[in-house]
Amino acid sequence: MQDLRLTTLSGSTMVLPQSAVSGFCSRICGDVLGPGEDDYDKARSVFNAMIDRRPALIVQCAGVEDVMAAVAFIRDHDLLASIRGGGHGVTGHAVCDGGLVIDLSRMKNVRVDPARRTAHAEGGATWGDFDRETQTFGLASTGGIVPTTGIAGLTLGGGIGYLNRKYGLACDNLISADVVTADGRVLKASAEDNADLFWALRGGGGNFGVLTSLEYRVHPVGPVLGGELIFPLDRAKETLRFYRDWSLTAADEVRADATLLSSPEGPALAIIVCYCGSIDDGERVLRPLRQFGPPVVDTIGPSPYARIQNLLTEVLAPGFCHYWKSGFFRSFSDDAIERLVDFFAADVPSPFAAVAIEHLGGAVARVGERDTAFSHRRAQHSCLVLRAWPDPAASQDNIAWGRSCYGVVEPFLEQGVYVNYLGDEGESRVRAAYGANYERLAALKQKYDPTNCFRGNQNIKPSDK
Ligand SMILES: Cc1cc2nc3c(=O)[nH]c(=O)nc-3n(C[C@H](O)[C@H](O)[C@H](O)COP(=O)(O)OP(=O)(O)OC[C@H]3O[C@@H](n4cnc5c(N)ncnc54)[C@H](O)[C@@H]3O)c2cc1C
Repeated sequence: MQDLRLTTLSGSTMVLPQSAVSGFCSRICGDVLGPGEDDYDKARSVFNAMIDRRPALIVQCAGVEDVMAAVAFIRDHDLLASIRGGGHGVTGHAVCDGGLVIDLSRMKNVRVDPARRTAHAEGGATWGDFDRETQTFGLASTGGIVPTTGIAGLTLGGGIGYLNRKYGLACDNLISADVVTADGRVLKASAEDNADLFWALRGGGGNFGVLTSLEYRVHPVGPVLGGELIFPLDRAKETLRFYRDWSLTAADEVRADATLLSSPEGPALAIIVCYCGSIDDGERVLRPLRQFGPPVVDTIGPSPYARIQNLLTEVLAPGFCHYWKSGFFRSFSDDAIERLVDFFAADVPSPFAAVAIEHLGGAVARVGERDTAFSHRRAQHSCLVLRAWPDPAASQDNIAWGRSCYGVVEPFLEQGVYVNYLGDEGESRVRAAYGANYERLAALKQKYDPTNCFRGNQNIKPSDK
């Protein structure tokens, strides 16, 4: 390595002599990549192809010692840094221009204790890694519905998934985490150890340190009753009204997400269902939804849980530009359905746009809004407007469509927003994401990261700043 130009926390550029850089590299067991090196471009790319950031150093950590060395290095030199788990954050906060990336993607080990019904996973594991190991024992925990999403980023924001109505959010299943904090310590966070930090990690995002390991509660899951129902767009209004009423009183075992989508095959309404109780009970619970209409496609049947977790893998493949805008429905009213479907039908975009109505409630809503940092407990449905396109030159039109679509649903949404779906939308939206818990989170940020070393995220400012 030669002398290296790096961006500092204040945004200025500093030059680090070659000796300091090689001294740091010699402490790292994993790899350290810089511009021009093999794999640098691969290592700096993230899920959203809109993001094109060029870090000065990417530290691909092999273990906790590497993470500690990287944190000490950024602290000693006051450097801009980011933390990378699965790289799925739509804002691309996992990478930073000119700074140092603490990349955990090599730390993917998952160890299951079937007798205790727990699973320990390293901070760079994905839900694919996690499901693979836990399903070996017929177990699972609430996790993201695309296997390449990182467990850490998702859990730190709350974590919704097909099992959330039965078993709560991903963060509700977190038992403990090992965290390298800004001062270089490795702290255990759990109900017994550093309980305030543990509270903050369950919804406060990557603001409080680098998670090297997460311990989850896991549950017997599978086979599930799941699959997809497709309805034509011209029957979307009546179907969504039926879906809404049915979903509000459905058993906790079921999650059903309704999505208006446009794809190369044309526009439609899709409802993806996962029932995690007994197959016989599931057949009874799902019958009204399957008989309504009826749908033109019905793929619901007994299935390994991992297959349902894979249904959207192709649709949500990396390499596309993405624009997301989301909120929680105050009420998914007839009026909201009317306007949303009219908008979608009048301006059917291509190649890919979706408005996903995600099914919450159940166990998610039985936790108090102050019990974890994730506060949006009362919402029964969330709404995610998602636009994806291949050509960066077409960004303006695609983003404009996303904004217009969101404008249609916005009057029906709460003020809050799910931090894991939030784009770069400004300070007031960040506050809305942490909602009622923002002040407590800012006080804990002051305690655990007073210089705001970890600011490459939906940032909580330390309370004294
Ligand atoms: C295709 C796709 C599907 C998705 N599906 C779901 C879903 O089903 N449910 C849901 O709730 N969300 C979902 N999301 C949103 C997802 O929860 C967020 O994008 C989340 O940030 C992804 O975490 P990551 O580790 O993959 O991302 P990264 O981009 O690597 O990280 C995002 C942020 O998380 C923090 N972070 C990541 N790892 C660590 C760590 N080890 N220690 C400390 N901080 C860390 C950092 O602040 C980082 O900036 C999905 C996103 C995509 C793109």
